[in-house]
Amino acid sequence: MCGIFAYAGTENAVPLVIDGLRSVEYRGYDSAGISVINSSGEIQTVKRGDHKSSLENLASEVANVELAGVVGIGHTRWATHGRINQQNSHPHASISGAVSIAHNGIIENFLELKDELIDAGVQFKSETDSEVLAHLVGYSVASGTSLREAVVCAATRIKGNTAVVAVSNTEPDIVVGLRVGNAGGIVVGKNDDAAVMSSDTIALLPYTSEFIYLEPGEIVEIRKGEVQLFDFEGNSITREA
Ligand code: GLU
Repeated sequence: MCGIFAYAGTENAVPLVIDGLRSVEYRGYDSAGISVINSSGEIQTVKRGDHKSSLENLASEVANVELAGVVGIGHTRWATHGRINQQNSHPHASISGAVSIAHNGIIENFLELKDELIDAGVQFKSETDSEVLAHLVGYSVASGTSLREAVVCAATRIKGNTAVVAVSNTEPDIVVGLRVGNAGGIVVGKNDDAAVMSSDTIALLPYTSEFIYLEPGEIVEIRKGEVQLFDFEGNSITREA
């Protein structure tokens, strides 16, 4: 179990993602991290793996560095694969840094996928199962695939229950979220200025009182004031909040 929060809107995502993470911190105290897409279109990530003080330390650190952007994702970790440290904290980046992901769940076949990626030249930075997702998505995005299709493509390679959120500098206005099985849900909401998603409805209450819960096998794209739901074949799904 872990806590995820993502924001796409008009305000600086950094304090909003930190606040969102406070609401879901109970889901994992081992580490805390944030990625935002800055105004130059680059992904910047700050993360801490200090066990119980991770989120407070993260909040202090981001207040002292230049970190800003209107799209961001954050994660609080309950470690299943890999030690509690900074390298194993989420979000995890693809090789080029074009993609950043935060993951909830266990990738049962990650060793097999990791070997395949290492053979293809990837140098892993963490001991987590989750990092394979960053590289799988990164490879697809580098070949011109949309972020949504790249996340679906990565999801079809993994075994186990997973919820993942992803950002890419190729589509700096959006966050993609996907659910496979029952790793813990993803709930999505929007108002006129922003769209948000999280592992827990409570984190969305400052934004909206209308919620959409992702079913297994669904993927969502959020951007300022907009939520679009799809199945893995790319068909649009209509569901009222
Ligand atoms: N399996 C991942 C890890 O150990 C994600 C754990 C979680 O859901 O917090 O980093």
